[in-house]
Amino acid sequence: METADEIISRIEGKVSKKEAELIKKAYDFAFKAHAGQKRMSGEPYFVHVVETVKILTELGMDASTIAAGFLHDVLEDTDVKEEEIKKQFGDEILFLVKGVTKLGTLKYRGQERHVESLRKFFIAMAQDLRVVIMKFADRLHNLRTLEHVRADKRQRIALESIEVYAPLANRLGMGKLKGEIEDAAFPYAYPKEYKIVEEILKEKKEPYKKYLSEVSDRLRKELAKNNIRYVDINYRIKHKYSLYKKLQRYEQDIDKIYDVVALRVVVENLEDCYRVLGIIHATWNPLPGRIKDYIAVPKPNSYRSIHTTIFTGSGGIAEIQIRTKEMHAEAEYGIAAHSSYKEQGLRITKEKESKFKWIEELKEYNTQPEQPDKFIRHLKTDFFNDRIFVFTPKGDVIDMPESSTPIDFAYSVHSDIGNHAVSAKVNGKMCSLFGTLKNGDIVEIAVKKDAHPSTKWFAAVKTTAAKKHIKSYLEKNSLLAKFKSFKS
Ligand code: MN
Repeated sequence: METADEIISRIEGKVSKKEAELIKKAYDFAFKAHAGQKRMSGEPYFVHVVETVKILTELGMDASTIAAGFLHDVLEDTDVKEEEIKKQFGDEILFLVKGVTKLGTLKYRGQERHVESLRKFFIAMAQDLRVVIMKFADRLHNLRTLEHVRADKRQRIALESIEVYAPLANRLGMGKLKGEIEDAAFPYAYPKEYKIVEEILKEKKEPYKKYLSEVSDRLRKELAKNNIRYVDINYRIKHKYSLYKKLQRYEQDIDKIYDVVALRVVVENLEDCYRVLGIIHATWNPLPGRIKDYIAVPKPNSYRSIHTTIFTGSGGIAEIQIRTKEMHAEAEYGIAAHSSYKEQGLRITKEKESKFKWIEELKEYNTQPEQPDKFIRHLKTDFFNDRIFVFTPKGDVIDMPESSTPIDFAYSVHSDIGNHAVSAKVNGKMCSLFGTLKNGDIVEIAVKKDAHPSTKWFAAVKTTAAKKHIKSYLEKNSLLAKFKSFKS
């Protein structure tokens, strides 16, 4: 297990004396708090804490997040109280530790779990991204040690990681983390499929290596001839889970997939990206239709690079990705690559607005509920086509099935609000209680003590929760006979 000093030495850039002290203090505090606790593997619990923090240092997180990383399990798993953390480490670190603890208390509730997890993530993300990144690191280490967990629980955690964590990491542009989460979860989520992919890859490894080295040798020479300095030329093998997804789309035929391995050329500046592309196309024949300029048109998660696929000449086909250092860092670390986030506690700053605007919007939404928000609509529909997300005037997110009504909304806020709803305002305008809500709507329900549900409501609502509440109200208030006759 690493010492506090070893952890500090992992942090890139300068660590002030004060920061180093803070980290050491958190290390010692957590070490004591978890003393005697063991993980399923039999290892001391603190090993998990240290490994989680190591992932945070790889992601380039700030000193507060590192310190909070050490404390991330003390509220849930030890006797340490919130006041103690506040006293020892202050409000900021307490906020981070509380945030990650809240994200961790998800209860398994079948299908609902998926939506509920996402909802919690959205809210946490809007407050402080560092909380979400800590949760990612925690989850990644838990996935890496999943072999020690009970089989049924194991698959649930693995599936949740693939369904919830990985897509979110991807949305934040954190490609490396996304790939690592998926690949750690893959063997437990889909064991059979994992074995098949492994077999396919094993067979291909040698031929791939051969033509990759041929192409990279030649490319180095051509770049030298043209006086282009490059920062790095390396290659990556496609992550297993994303290869699995792609194999499904290509009849399991790996020879139809051209980016199983890809050569990466990292250059100094933007102009060089295009010059390198020109040199590559002058040296090898490109496959038509395979040139993708994600610099001119970045992917929605802000990924930038130029991709091209070439005939290697020796019968092979290879993808080459060209990018600058900055683009590379962004592709790997996404939002965590931006130093301004670190300085500002990873709260989104105005200048970065365009990149991760949807998070900024989400955050602003929470503080200015009177502003309708198109971005939230867009964001949510990406994740769920059959769900809508609507908001309370305070900015709380409520997720519901499509074509839900304001009454459904009222019941999902609280049964009392449902039972006494008289009218609804949607985006500031009066609306029928039986109207259809849309993604991103802000809904306000007016209540009156003497208002109550009727059988008409039962027919109008979409959610089972609302139906249940209405039914029980009708039964309780001797409206049962009426209710039954309505049903028949
Ligand atoms: Mn943990």
